Amino acid sequence: MNADVFILGSGPAGVQAAIHASRKKVSVLVAGKPSSSAMHGAHIENYFGTGEHPGEEILSEGIAQAESFGAVFLGKNVISASAEGGKFRFALEDGTEVEARSVIIATGISRRKLGIPGEKEFYGKGVSYCASCDCNFYKGRRVAVIGNDSEAAVSAELMTHYASETHWVAWDQEADRHLAEKAVAAGAIMHGSKPKAVEGGGKAEYLVLEDGTRIEADGVFIELGAKSSADIAMDLGVMPEVDDTIRVGADCSTEVPGVFACGDVAGRPWQVAKAVGQGCIAGTNAADFARKAA
Ligand SMILES: Cc1cc2nc3c(=O)[nH]c(=O)nc-3n(C[C@H](O)[C@H](O)[C@H](O)COP(=O)(O)OP(=O)(O)OC[C@H]3O[C@@H](n4cnc5c(N)ncnc54)[C@H](O)[C@@H]3O)c2cc1C
Repeated sequence: MNADVFILGSGPAGVQAAIHASRKKVSVLVAGKPSSSAMHGAHIENYFGTGEHPGEEILSEGIAQAESFGAVFLGKNVISASAEGGKFRFALEDGTEVEARSVIIATGISRRKLGIPGEKEFYGKGVSYCASCDCNFYKGRRVAVIGNDSEAAVSAELMTHYASETHWVAWDQEADRHLAEKAVAAGAIMHGSKPKAVEGGGKAEYLVLEDGTRIEADGVFIELGAKSSADIAMDLGVMPEVDDTIRVGADCSTEVPGVFACGDVAGRPWQVAKAVGQGCIAGTNAADFARKAA
């Protein structure tokens, strides 16, 4: 598929960017899942003109608005990206390929936490949020990958090439079927119960599940949600900050011409009003960039 503007993220920043870009009469494709937006489960009390309102409702109205101007929402996550010869290319979790003239990264805050006992205590001592960053440290060791989405499937498959034993814990499986089957075919051992705790002495030794299973694991990779915005940014040639946010100028441009960022991923305050404001700027400028590049 081809697009003038490709937006990664279906939260308020991405949706507002889609509204402003598509009103400039360029073609707009939008990746990401509205249900994964931080706004989806939130009650927004401080956004102009809405009173206390379920975030899910504001989002779905915004998506309908963007669609009415021509934006197309794909409902899938991006799993890889590249930049070459002034074009940006992406692969989605269902195998769809997208080529675009300009890109907006509106992926929100990544590296979601599980919030279970031991997660914080053993972070850096066996607990990791990035299999592709830390896989090398677990050569010949036992690991558990936690997550329901395609990114967890990709990470589980990756870890089978390093670890002596790879467990994949997915209690509400939403990964693309092809990627999930690939992980299992590569040797990942599936578990369908929710994680309860990471236990150990000075470092992680066990992942305990709610059904009582105790998985022996030197490495526990928490891979909730999609490929992180930091990874995608680096694939596109943009170096993220140490906290994985992306530095943008007042025009929401990044250091790479044609790549824009907005919303939570572009730094604090992590608020809908700021996400929407930056979405407007990024959408307008990405559309102008794509027009000039055509
Ligand atoms: C419980 C809670 C309550 C809150 N209350 C308020 C409030 O009252 N007022 C307020 O202003 N703010 C509030 N917030 C914060 C607000 O929700 C966020 O600031 C806002 O949602 C950020 O928007 P965003 O579009 O940048 O990111 P998000 O809304 O998080 O959206 C990110 C999008 O990126 C997509 N994505 C991620 N990775 C990929 C990938 N690899 N490929 C494609 N797409 C990807 C996701 O699927 C999602 O659609 C609250 C947040 C929470 C969690």
